[in-house]
Amino acid sequence: MSSHRERVYRTRAIILKRREQGEADRVITLFTPEYGKRVVIAKGVRKPTSRKAGHLEPFTHVALLLAKGKTWDIITSAQTITSFRALREDLDRTAYAYYFCELLDAFVQENDPHPELYDLLLTTFRRLETTPNLTLTARWYELALLKGVGFAPQLFHCIQCGKAIQPELNYFSLEGGGVLCPQHGEGASGAQPLPLNALKVLRYLQTQPYNHIIRLQLKPGTMRQVEKLMGDYLRFLLERRLKSPTFIRQIQTH
Ligand SMILES: [Zn+2]
Repeated sequence: MSSHRERVYRTRAIILKRREQGEADRVITLFTPEYGKRVVIAKGVRKPTSRKAGHLEPFTHVALLLAKGKTWDIITSAQTITSFRALREDLDRTAYAYYFCELLDAFVQENDPHPELYDLLLTTFRRLETTPNLTLTARWYELALLKGVGFAPQLFHCIQCGKAIQPELNYFSLEGGGVLCPQHGEGASGAQPLPLNALKVLRYLQTQPYNHIIRLQLKPGTMRQVEKLMGDYLRFLLERRLKSPTFIRQIQTH
């Protein structure tokens, strides 16, 4: 006999995504501080009378009561902590918020707690509500997420010889996850040129506080180089190491 205490539990969560299930239910992917990613079900939530529906929209920070279930745990009550309304009211911010959730979803496994990534996503949503520079905020988030999952790119020393990278044209190895000096990068398979300005921006994003980062004024060409390199690196990691092909198609639109 299990007691009531064992069958129900409370947690805070961020709603990462949801899909329809059956006649009136939704399967919801949560990101929680204690349990990491968890897939649960909200029963009857598509009925017009549902009181839970409004609290289970994507990006919502919510306090939940859940009951253990056979396939999925069941949401028995939901109360919004922060709705992040500004992320829903602006199409660009909405698109980035979806992207941030998808990227996290792709990099973490179920029931693998990452409280620091939970805090990161909440912080990023707050910043995304007001940032004047969506792309800088996105690149900052990508690097912070990669650090959290152990794939931070090495940007200061050649990943082959270990020498400090000099201010010149260097190379970036997707496979090695970092910078190669000209001697080891030129002509190396899987290595792409990394212009000096793009390297400087990546280092700045990786090491400086966000309130400094967001004030950066960058040439569009440099920003595009950084965006392309981060996109290539994320796709490489997800294809080769994490095998998330669905997500790779989605990431190409950002
Ligand atoms: Zn080297």
